[in-house]
Amino acid sequence: MGRIQLDHLTKRFGETVAVEDVTLDVEDSEFLVLVGPSGCGKSTTLRMVAGLETPTSGDLYIAGDHMNYRVPQNRDIAMVFQDYALYPHMTVRENIRFGLEEEAGYTDSERDERVADVAETLGIDDLLDRKPGELSGGQQQRVALGRAIVRDPEVFLMDEPLANLDAKLRTQMRTELQRLQADLDVTTVYVTHNQTEAMTMGDRIAVLDGGRLQQVGEPLELYHEPANQFVAGFIGEPMMNFLHGRRSETGFDSGHIEYPFDERLERTVGDADELVFGVRPEAIDVRRADETSAEGLGPYEFRMTVTVTETHGDQNVVSLTHADDAADHDAVRAVTDGMQIVAVGESVVITIDPETVHLFDGETGDALCNRRLETTQELTI
Ligand code: ATP
Repeated sequence: MGRIQLDHLTKRFGETVAVEDVTLDVEDSEFLVLVGPSGCGKSTTLRMVAGLETPTSGDLYIAGDHMNYRVPQNRDIAMVFQDYALYPHMTVRENIRFGLEEEAGYTDSERDERVADVAETLGIDDLLDRKPGELSGGQQQRVALGRAIVRDPEVFLMDEPLANLDAKLRTQMRTELQRLQADLDVTTVYVTHNQTEAMTMGDRIAVLDGGRLQQVGEPLELYHEPANQFVAGFIGEPMMNFLHGRRSETGFDSGHIEYPFDERLERTVGDADELVFGVRPEAIDVRRADETSAEGLGPYEFRMTVTVTETHGDQNVVSLTHADDAADHDAVRAVTDGMQIVAVGESVVITIDPETVHLFDGETGDALCNRRLETTQELTI
């Protein structure tokens, strides 16, 4: 069926290497999200799968067939882009029907039937006689989807299809797209620069940076077990905290914060000298300094001062700086419960449990050690 295989795929534009040696296997019926910052090569990768670009080297297969030089029309794919590109002078019915234009083997009444079926699936059957100009952005996007799915393709390719919608509609369409993809059971590659979209929609996520594939995995795998500092920083919101420093005799030393290693950290860090210490904001425990016991701070506790608070209702995101450090080095962000109010200027004590610590090689960025997951915390729903 719709399995897609990218085998050492590279695309150069003159001096620019847009995609470099990407090997990736998208399983049949899978929803794979390609994510990464602007210019990382997402669209170029998708366009090679679509047949809109020819790979400079490497091989591309869809359903086991070699595709490098096959024209888009003969690939059994359907594409949806950020720009819906609906024909303004055509009705919704005609726009959707246009998706069948190049398909042989349908009678006129079969075409009408297909359009009606698809419109019903997308909940736009009452809009069939309208023109695109008479539709909202979300409705237009549904028509664009309709035009893609009416052909019943082997593979869907989507490039930021929700980017033009407002935040609320985007969230709603996200859920609808997932439902639709599951119902239609069609292999889908979905490009976005938005990590929330990637986390919430993908069966698996492929993270690209600088044309290179950084990691492929299930959303929680990337969140808890990033392969490197780039993935750790890209996946998760607010972003993981990173402190730069060195290995000390007892653990990690940023120059301001000394964090002693337990046996696990000690063992996994190997002989790397330059280190990046990572901890997710939601893994940091924050409490008021005056709640600290008279015995003083424990080894994993640090006194900090609140510099900024952001209220989200259900939670607060607080920026903290080392209490003795006016220069704002080693600032970290932590997530606190929405009911736990902390004020700017307040003195707090944070606790960073060693089980939640990530360590990266300071030179290569490779993950040396990721947070510990209890066997009872298996990544299943
Ligand atoms: P964005 O999210 O901004 O669309 P992207 O991750 O999709 O970015 P690509 O559009 O794939 O990135 O571009 C990858 C790199 O290749 C960029 O450096 C871009 O400038 C370059 N590039 C893309 N298309 C061409 C082209 N036709 N000619 C020359 N360079 C190109």
